[in-house]
Amino acid sequence: MTYDTFVMVDWSGGNDRGPRPTKDAIWACIAGQDPVYFRTRQLVEVWLTDLFTTEMAADRRVLAGFDFPFGYPAGFTKSVTGSNDPFALWTWFTDHITDTPKTNNRFDVAGDLNALLGGAGPFWANGLSRDIPNLPRKGRDRSSSQFPERRRVETCAKGSFTCWQMAGAGAVGSQVMMGLPVLHRLRKLFANNLRVWPFEGAGAAITIAEIWPTLLAGPAPDGMIKDAHQVQAIAAHFASLSPADLTNLMDVNAPEEGWILGVLQPKAPTLRNDCFAMPQGAHWTPVSEALTHLQDKLSPVTSSKKIEITRAAGHILAADVTAKRAHPPAPNSAVDGYAFAGPIGQGAHAVPLVDGRAAAGTPYTSQVPNGHAIRILTGAAMPRGTDTVILQEDVTTDRAKILFHGPLKSGANAREAGEDMTAGQIVLTSGRTLTAADLATMAAAGIGSVTVRRKLRVGILSTGDELAQAGQSARIDQIYDANRPMLCAVARKWGHKVIDLGCGPDNRDELRTILNDAAKRCDVILTSGGASAGDEDHISALLQDTGSLALWRVAMKPGRPLALGLWDGVPVFGLPGNPVAAMVCALVFARPALSVLAGGEWSDPVGYPVPAAFSKTKKAGRREYIRARIEEGQVVAFGSEGSGRVSGLSWASGLVELGDEAQAINHGDFVRYIPFESFGL
Ligand code: AMP
Ligand code: MG
Repeated sequence: MTYDTFVMVDWSGGNDRGPRPTKDAIWACIAGQDPVYFRTRQLVEVWLTDLFTTEMAADRRVLAGFDFPFGYPAGFTKSVTGSNDPFALWTWFTDHITDTPKTNNRFDVAGDLNALLGGAGPFWANGLSRDIPNLPRKGRDRSSSQFPERRRVETCAKGSFTCWQMAGAGAVGSQVMMGLPVLHRLRKLFANNLRVWPFEGAGAAITIAEIWPTLLAGPAPDGMIKDAHQVQAIAAHFASLSPADLTNLMDVNAPEEGWILGVLQPKAPTLRNDCFAMPQGAHWTPVSEALTHLQDKLSPVTSSKKIEITRAAGHILAADVTAKRAHPPAPNSAVDGYAFAGPIGQGAHAVPLVDGRAAAGTPYTSQVPNGHAIRILTGAAMPRGTDTVILQEDVTTDRAKILFHGPLKSGANAREAGEDMTAGQIVLTSGRTLTAADLATMAAAGIGSVTVRRKLRVGILSTGDELAQAGQSARIDQIYDANRPMLCAVARKWGHKVIDLGCGPDNRDELRTILNDAAKRCDVILTSGGASAGDEDHISALLQDTGSLALWRVAMKPGRPLALGLWDGVPVFGLPGNPVAAMVCALVFARPALSVLAGGEWSDPVGYPVPAAFSKTKKAGRREYIRARIEEGQVVAFGSEGSGRVSGLSWASGLVELGDEAQAINHGDFVRYIPFESFGL
C-alpha cells in the first residue's frame, strides 16, 4: 500500500479548550510538519475536509489515522441498529449526537443507550455533576451488559481502555461517540474516494484508520505537550514504513469491531518442531501408521477472512455456519391448487371459493373463513385459516366453488415452516469445502457472508543438477523436470494456491537461499528429489541442520524415504525425485496432510473392489500401489512396474492398492481400485 501524505489525529470528546494549545485537546500532525492544535471538533473537521480536498486535487494518496475505536465489541451494533454493519452505528450516532463548541449530549446518549439495551450498562462513568438516568458513575455499579468488555484487538493491545467507559483519564468512550459522526460526514462527503480500514479495505485516494499513538510513540521531549509529540511521532512512524510493511499491517479481518493499525493480528497456530518425529526403529513404517501420525500431528496453519457467499465456492469454512432464519420461513404451498383447512373426509366435497388468490411473493393477507377454499400457487405463503392444499388437477371448478373427492390429510401438499432448516441450526460445519449446493443452502438460510480460510500457499520446488526445463534444449546427460508441472497442477486441483519455486541445483547454499525465501511466502513446501540420505540428498541434509528432520522410511512401493521437517516453521514435504514415486507419495501423504493444513478435513480415498485382469504375487511387509485402469469391468495393470516410466501415469486412470500382507492374486480376484478422482484429481 502506498501513501504520499500521512496525517494522524489525537481526538477529544470534550468541549472547547480555549485558544491556548493545551493537553487532552485535539492535535493533528502531517508527517514531516509541526503538530497543529484545534480547540474544537468543528475546526478540525473543516481542516480535514480542506486537507483531503487539496491532496486529492494534487493526486496525493492520504492515510489518516484517528485514535479512537471505529467499532464496538461484537454484538453491540446489531443490538442498537438491527444490523452488523459498523456504518449503521456511525449513522445512528450521527442522528443522535448533538455537538456544539460549548456543549454536547454524549452522557445522555450513553444513558439512553443503556436504557434501550435494558438497564444500567454497558456504558458507565458520567463526567457531569448532574445524575444521568441509567448511566452509573462506576463500572462495578453496572446492572447489565450483554457485550464483551473489550474488542478482540484490545485483548492484543495491553493497557487500552474500553469504549464503555465515558469519562476518566484516558477513557475513549466519549471520543468514539463524538468522533464517529465526524468520520461519518467525511465518509459521505468523499464517498468513493474514501475507504475506512479495515471495513472497506484501503484501496482509495483517502484511507482512514484507527491508530493508538501510545503504542508506538515514546515519552515526549521536555517541554512538549504529550499529545502533540505523539501525533508527530506516529505520523513519522507510518511514513517510514515500506509499502510492503503497510500492506502486511493492513491484512486484517475485523469486519464488525474494527482494528488498531499496527497491532498484529494473532497468527494462525504454528506446528511444533517435532511434529514429524516418529519413533525410530529398525523396521519400515507401515503406510497406515505414517498416515495416522500425520493426522494426529498436523493442524490448520491458515488464517481466516469473511467473504460473500457468491464467491465462496471451493473455499474451506473456518467456522460452523448457523441458519439465520428458518427455511421455509413460513408454511407455503408445494403445488398449484386450492388451500383450505384440513383434514377432509372420504367422499365428494363442494367447497366455496373466496375472492382473491395467494401467489409466491404476493400473499393473501385476510383470513380464509372455515369451510372455504382459496386459489393458491406453488411457493405462496399459506393464508391464515388454511393448512392443506389440493392439486388443481384433482378438482373441478366453476370459479365459485371447487368439487373434489376426499380424503385429504391435514397438511397435505403444504410445506411446514422450518421443515428444511430451523433458525439457529448448524447447517454446515467448519472444515467443509463449500460446494455449489452449499451456496444455495446458505442463501436459503439467510446467510450473506461466511468466514473461510485463506487459501493454503503451497510452494513447489524441484531439485537436481540433471534437470532441464520443459521445452528447452537439453544435453544428453540431462532429463526434463517432469515433477514440477505435475505437482503444481495437482496442488492447484486440490484447491490450494500454488507458488512455483522453480528448480534448484544440488547445492546446499543455493537451496538454503531458496528455502529461506520460500518460507516467507508459502504455508507449506513440496520438494522433489534429494530427499534420501546420500551425498547429493541436500534437502534432507538441510532439514537435518534445522533439527526438525524426520526421514520416514515408509513400507510402500513405489517410494523412497520421505524427508519431512520444518523450515522457519513452514512444513516441508521432501518427496522422492522419481516422478512415479513423487506422484504416489503426493497422493497418499501430501493430499490429506495439505487438506488439514488448509483447515479442511482429513480424508481417506474411496476405493472399489474390482476383478483383476492380471495375476501377481507379492511379499509381506509393504503396501503396493500399481498404475491401473478399468477395461471391460476389470482392472488392468500397467505393463511395467518400473517406477521410472512416467507415461504409465498418463495411461492409468487410478491405482490398485495392495495391502501390507503377502498376496497371490489370480485373474478375476477382487482388488481395491482407487480412481484418480478419489485422490481429488
Ligand atoms: P533423487 O531423489 O534426487 O535421487 O532422484 C531420483 C530419480 O528421480 C533420479 O533418477 C532423478 O534424476 C529423478 N528426478 C529427480 N527430480 C526429477 C524431476 N523433477 N523430474 C523428473 N525426474 C526427476
Ligand atoms: Mg537428485
